[in-house]
Amino acid sequence: MNRTKIIAGNWKMNTTVERGLSLTKEIEGIVKDEVTNDAEIILCPPFVTLASMTRLLQGNSRIQVGAQNCHQKERGAYTGSINCEMIKDTGATYVIVGHSERRQYAHEGNGLLAEKIDLTLKYGLKPIYCFGETQVERKSGEFVKVISRQISESLFHLSQEAFSKLVLAYEPVWAIGTGETATPEQANEIHAMVREQIKQKYDINTAERVRILYGGSVKPNNAQELFQQPDIDGGLIGGAALDARSFVEIIKQA
Ligand code: PEP
Repeated sequence: MNRTKIIAGNWKMNTTVERGLSLTKEIEGIVKDEVTNDAEIILCPPFVTLASMTRLLQGNSRIQVGAQNCHQKERGAYTGSINCEMIKDTGATYVIVGHSERRQYAHEGNGLLAEKIDLTLKYGLKPIYCFGETQVERKSGEFVKVISRQISESLFHLSQEAFSKLVLAYEPVWAIGTGETATPEQANEIHAMVREQIKQKYDINTAERVRILYGGSVKPNNAQELFQQPDIDGGLIGGAALDARSFVEIIKQA
């Protein structure tokens, strides 16, 4: 199955609006001059930068914009929160849901993430649903069960049609921001396992069509061997996405 690769940059809580826009321009310029493949490119800046970034990129179909999170409720008395309607209104098209830093620091669990998935789809946004095990879960051998529950409890209430709008991202927590990467074989094994789980629940077409990204210390020097694996459809990039040259070098390997 020929799946178009996706390279998404998660800027986390970094960059002011001004710095974010100049980084976007820098990335856009190098992409135009140097990237010859057809990878989808997504930038996920902090909320405050979304609207000005989509305005800056208007007419440029190459770079899409995504939010890093959304609230699980539609609207109401949730001081300080941002809902899917507001994200949609900025012109963003993607939303990262269930990043491990949200699971860890905001205690977001699979059930709550299912609510977020429903709202992103209701507002016509495309979720990038993150899953992955901690170091303790990997060492204890529990990781297969943990991952399978992250997939089934947050996603398997969806119809086949709704499921086909998702992008998934396997991000082993022990590899995020640590410099430690899963080996390409280790990562591909999990991607293949999740694809099989999706096939059992839906059908082979759904399983073969869904794009599953890998995230966790992806850098220009290790991207190629990860992206060459048959079940890895691109990357969710943290640290290296904050440097235009590194990010574009990763895009080129897709
Ligand atoms: C991430 O935060 O999604 C991530 C993969 O970070 P890093 O690339 O820095 O490990």
